[in-house]
Amino acid sequence: MSHKAFQADFIYLGNQEKISNGIIELNANSEITHLGENTSSSDIKTKKLNGFLCPGFINTHCHIELSHLQHKVSEGTKLHGFVQDLQKVRKADEATISQAIASAELSMRNNGIVAVGDISNGEDSFQTKSQSPIFFHTFVELFGFDKLQADRIYTRGLELKHIAQNRNLNASVVPHSSYSVSNELMKLIGKTQKNAPITIHNQETEAENSLFQKGEGEIKEMLKRFGLDLSTFKPIGKSSIFNYLAFLNTEVNTLLVHNTFTKPEDIEWAEQNHAHLYWCFCPNANQYIEKRLPNIPQFIDAGVSCTLGTDSLASNWQLSIWAEIETIQKHYPQIKTELLIEMACQNGAKFLGIDNQFGKLEIGKKPGLNWVNQGAVNKLA
Ligand SMILES: [Zn+2]
Repeated sequence: MSHKAFQADFIYLGNQEKISNGIIELNANSEITHLGENTSSSDIKTKKLNGFLCPGFINTHCHIELSHLQHKVSEGTKLHGFVQDLQKVRKADEATISQAIASAELSMRNNGIVAVGDISNGEDSFQTKSQSPIFFHTFVELFGFDKLQADRIYTRGLELKHIAQNRNLNASVVPHSSYSVSNELMKLIGKTQKNAPITIHNQETEAENSLFQKGEGEIKEMLKRFGLDLSTFKPIGKSSIFNYLAFLNTEVNTLLVHNTFTKPEDIEWAEQNHAHLYWCFCPNANQYIEKRLPNIPQFIDAGVSCTLGTDSLASNWQLSIWAEIETIQKHYPQIKTELLIEMACQNGAKFLGIDNQFGKLEIGKKPGLNWVNQGAVNKLA
């Protein structure tokens, strides 16, 4: 492949800037060599495109290892129902699991995704991820509400992190959520050295807040059904975020995922107490599980860093960041496209610590190039 040049109605750079009728040129290595309103030389042939161009998308929340569960879990069951259904259908033979992972990786590439923050509970996805042209950061996700099990679960998590690293994957150990991880395990994760970035599912369901505020609700009932002893659990009278954030390392980039039931006081307190927070939205998964959407304008008004994710095929119809943007635009038409592109590109790259290459169209960088026209994403580089 040789030098390429494209002109489009708009070029979104990946932060909030855009160039009308801009021209972008790339060399054979897909590095950007020119960006502006005119071509760099009169003998360059420019392909004219309707629609807009933007950098490759960053998917900051995915569980590629659950890809074999597409269409297997019922919609609208709320989180406690989803978690229970997931347990029932999760098991499958190795070939089914790895084929589904490989085809999910391919579909993300075709949907213009260039980097993924991906959750792993086991090794199933490591082979595909280590061979992929997509940049993957692996979040080794830990569960354990029983504090007596904290050391054992943590040690097993570190082993899995090292297995991932030995396959040349970037990896960190992370807590699944406030209600599935004991304070003891949360502290062990928070104290881990060289363990960035990290992520946690946050306020995905109202019952998560009820558990920490009042010690009641569907999440509590679910934990009891799992056989956990909750006799020593004490509600704190506040939402979950006030509990776990204190145990995490405030020096490392931390992604709070979903935020469907997050209130302004949660955002304010969290931002005051953590200087490296990012807030990730997976609107299609929220529609799938809870039939709800987070109040995204509330986060934009607060001026916090937001990113986008697809969650897994167990709770989504596809793995496409553009499909997430379309859902947000449908429900919140007042949010400008350039702001959503910033969430999908530069903010995600900053969170993953890969903004030296990804997230912004800039001369000398190789961030991928997407052409979006009439709702369709075409990967140009
Ligand atoms: Zn998730």
